[in-house]
Order: sequence, then structure tokens, then C-alpha cells
Amino acid sequence: MPPSGSSSPAGNSVLSKRGSDALRPEVYEEHDTLLPGQTPISRVPELWMSDGNIVLVCQGQAYRVHKGLLALNSVVFRDMVSNAQPDGDEVYAGCPVVRLSDAAEDIQHLLKAVYLRKYFRKGEAQSLSKIGSLLRITKKYMFDSIRQEVVKHFTLLFPSSMSDYISTTRQSLIPDDYNPFIAAQIAIEHDLSSTIPVAVYECTLLPMPTLFDGHSVGNAPTVYLTPSTQRMCITIRERIKQLVYEVADEFIWPWQTEEAEDPPHPYVDHPECIKAFEAARKSADCLYWADGYNVFMTRLSERLGNQESTVMCEICRLAWKDGEASGRVQLWRDLPGLCGLGDWLSLLKADGTVNRDAAIVATPVWSLEPIEMYVQSRGA
Ligand SMILES: [Zn+2]
Repeated sequence: MPPSGSSSPAGNSVLSKRGSDALRPEVYEEHDTLLPGQTPISRVPELWMSDGNIVLVCQGQAYRVHKGLLALNSVVFRDMVSNAQPDGDEVYAGCPVVRLSDAAEDIQHLLKAVYLRKYFRKGEAQSLSKIGSLLRITKKYMFDSIRQEVVKHFTLLFPSSMSDYISTTRQSLIPDDYNPFIAAQIAIEHDLSSTIPVAVYECTLLPMPTLFDGHSVGNAPTVYLTPSTQRMCITIRERIKQLVYEVADEFIWPWQTEEAEDPPHPYVDHPECIKAFEAARKSADCLYWADGYNVFMTRLSERLGNQESTVMCEICRLAWKDGEASGRVQLWRDLPGLCGLGDWLSLLKADGTVNRDAAIVATPVWSLEPIEMYVQSRGA
């Protein structure tokens, strides 16, 4: 037992009230009453309000906050804190104590989101761990307005519109700890229906063995896909392969199909361009199956269009570009179905967010302009 008057700066600091830091257990004040057998608690300085009137304790960490503020934001907390009285069983720093069984990380994210206006704003890059944490905790305690903000942000990362998906705005929101496996898990667990297809599509960009062996980012633990998500991924990959051929036949190399002459396609009588298309098709075969090749992001017609072997006339180049664009739109429309989830519209309805996105997915967006150009040029 150390002498009570010890003022050694290094030793016995655990027993010193003022000398303790956030990591060391706080010595209870004389008027504090903690239930026997409870673990010691330490204050979290940044969430310790001197005028707070309730102390939340979670995994040994204590937060002195305001009953009224919690009650305003959460029905669950309103009921919980209204029962906590300063003369109750457990008191700390003069405030009633409410013990929570959640992860300390979740509670810290939640309290910071409540107290700090800038802590979570949709449309500003946020770590995936913060997003997951906030979705979990705001659901449990019904912090509805914070939850809505987080859901909206998640929807920006995993949008239902292709143009939003390939936008630079979305690219700027991808966090450092981005792991599509976690994103897919979040989307499915939280029933964020319209975000599931893109989250799962992002998983399919990883090498096939990873879909079965799990994926980790940095020092984070390995995350595994569930068998049903693995199934979605495989179905999407298979569909991409199939679609590349379908699109190739229908739009890029139409002279090989019976419908080739109706409407007439620009390059049927361009032998040099046909040769170039064949070369492009071979390169496409290699590229489309490559891990990480994102058919929505990278335009093959642009990537290959300048190679010597694939140089073609302007009309044919446009037709190729157009064919590829229509293939992408087709795949985008198919994504929900490939995940076994119906179509975009039904997902948006399930989320209660039918908006302009619904109009976009319901309207064909590819243009037949190059073919019309060709018809005009032939007629001329
Ligand atoms: Zn041509």
C-alpha cells in the first residue's frame, strides 16, 4: 500500500486523481457509488462535458453527456435516461450512471456525431469503419436523423445510377479503409437494398480466390463473404463474360449475326475496319476477364482505339464506342437481377427513395447516333 501523501510523478499515478490520463482507471470520487463487482472506469476527456448530467459507461470508458440532448435525438435514450436518477444505485461524478453493452468505438462515434456538427456529413469522405459503426448504433438506439445522413452517404458510395457510380464525386468519397466485402456486408445487414448490387459488383473486381479466401485491408482482420454473397459475385462475373459476347455480337461485330443487315451497320463494307475490330476483340477477350477490370469505369474502345492494330474510321470507332456503352447500360440494368433482387426500381421503392435515379434506369440512355450518321452518309 503506497503512502497516502505520495506525490511521486511516475509511481502510483494510478491512485492519483489529477495525475491520471485517459487510459488509466480513474479513482472514484468519495461521493461516487459504483456497484460492487463493476470494472473500474476511466473518463474520455473529449466526451466529458463539465456540465453533463448523465454518465454513460461502455467497456470501462465513461462519457459525461446531456440527458436532454440524447432524449431529443433518440426515443430509446429518452426512455432509458428518464429512468436514471442521481440518487439511483450507481452514481459517478455526481451523475447517474447508465451502463451500455455496446462496443466503445460505436458509442464514441455516436456521441461525436451528436455533439460535433462536422463529425459526419454526407458527401465528405468517411471511413468505412465509421459508417458501419454509426449504422449499427443509430439503428439500435434509433438516432433516426443521424442514421438518415449515414444512409444517404452510403448511397452516394453505392449508387443506383451508373452515371453517379462512374462520377469523380463518388471516387473522391472512397475511404482509405475501403473493403468492398465490408461494404457488401453493411448493405445486406442493414437492408440498404439499392446499394447491394454495386457493393457486390465491387467485390467481383477482386481475384476469384479472394472471393472464397477473404479480403483484408491494411492491418484490419480478414473479412469473409457469406455463401449467398459469393453466389451473387459468381453470377455477376459469369454474366459479364456472357454479355461481352452478346454485346460484341449485337453491337460491335453485327455482321456476324442474322440481324446484321437490319439496320445496316456502318462497317459491313469497311474491310480494314473489320480487321481492326477483330484485333480489338482479341484484346477485349484478355482485358475483360482480367481481375480488377471495371467494365463501367474503363472504356475499352478508348483504351484500345489508338492502337495501331485497332485503328478504324471515325464512323466505325463511334459505333464501337456506342456498342460498348450500350453493353454497360445493359449490365447495369441487370445487376440487381444478378443478385437475385429484382430490378432497380423495386430496390429504390424498397428503400423509399424512388427519385430521379428511377427515371434514369427506366429510360434507355444509349444513343444510336453513329448508326443514324452512317445511314445518312450512305444515303448521301
Ligand atoms: Zn469503318
